[in-house]
Amino acid sequence: MTGDPLCPLCARPIPPEARSLHHLIPKSLKGRETVLLHRICHRKIHSLFTERDLQKRYHSIERIKAHPDMALFLTWVAGKEPGFYTRTADSQRKGRRRRP
Ligand SMILES: [Zn+2]
Ligand SMILES: [Zn+2]
Repeated sequence: MTGDPLCPLCARPIPPEARSLHHLIPKSLKGRETVLLHRICHRKIHSLFTERDLQKRYHSIERIKAHPDMALFLTWVAGKEPGFYTRTADSQRKGRRRRP
């Protein structure tokens, strides 16, 4: 339908306004290889892992996906619009539920 690239994390297409480049090894640690992700998927990576974690262990998409919190996130985001993005995704999940 569209030529949007697929996100290697959640496997959904990435619309132009939601694209974000992740360095598999942080740029500050001399990493060069990048992957194109959704902004929301990218943000999740950095909320779970420190730069050291990324350098030492989570420097591949397969390893990132294998983390249990990431797996939960991917299940959750799978049902969202490809351009979906919220700053409050994490705080909503950690409690504070509003009644309808
Ligand atoms: Zn994604
Ligand atoms: Zn990144």
